[in-house]
Amino acid sequence: MEFIELKNVFKVYTNGVSALADVSLSISKGEFVFVIGESGSGKSTLTKLLYREEKPNRGSVYVGGINVAKLRNSNVYKLRRKIGVVFQDFKLLPKLTVYENIAYPLESYGMKSDEIRNRVLKAVERVGLKDKLRSYPNQLSGGEQQRVCIARAIVNEPKLIICDEPTGDLDPKMSKEIMDVLDTINKDLESTIIMATHDKEIVNRMKKRVIYLHNGVLVSDKKKGNYIEDENI
Ligand code: ADP
Repeated sequence: MEFIELKNVFKVYTNGVSALADVSLSISKGEFVFVIGESGSGKSTLTKLLYREEKPNRGSVYVGGINVAKLRNSNVYKLRRKIGVVFQDFKLLPKLTVYENIAYPLESYGMKSDEIRNRVLKAVERVGLKDKLRSYPNQLSGGEQQRVCIARAIVNEPKLIICDEPTGDLDPKMSKEIMDVLDTINKDLESTIIMATHDKEIVNRMKKRVIYLHNGVLVSDKKKGNYIEDENI
């Protein structure tokens, strides 16, 4: 079995909206995959199924051999510890420093402070923010804030990193920096990265696998793909 496998997944929200229809796909360990498509095509829903923010109505979702669709609620936290998630809107805690924002999840696991310190410093070094540890989020640029989020996501060195429009609020230069950081993490930590985006320029430059959703249906899956626009289906 591959690291990630979705089989015949359907997701209909309680209001009757069909977000994913009969989606099947598999992703190997260490792959870098873009999930693209117009707004509302189901990209976020797909990522949410992987970290069990949502459950499918039908079909199976395997992550590391576990059917996360069937995972008991009381075990979801174990899955989440193994997955780093990066969002468009950062979700940093404004009253905590960069160091504290990154350390926070580890503290909640009850990890020793020496171990936390080692991990935070390593993560911060990977994203190139060593000199900003004592800054607060509002003292950082958008690109720097997103790098803090990436550091927070990788502090456990997860085998899976999910990014939902991580460059959505950033200008092209900052977006490129973020993509360089993610590319390096993909290579150095050998983490699988799944990134939902509609940033055409990034997708075309990176030459990674591209999965294309249209109205919740997986219509194309290409190695070293380019951005696809709806009119080109
Ligand atoms: P994308 O990430 O590609 O913009 P989403 O996965 O967010 O797409 O949304 C897919 C569809 O599901 C859209 O029609 C959206 O309005 C709908 N949707 C998403 N989340 C919910 C929700 N919690 N409740 C109801 N409908 C939702």
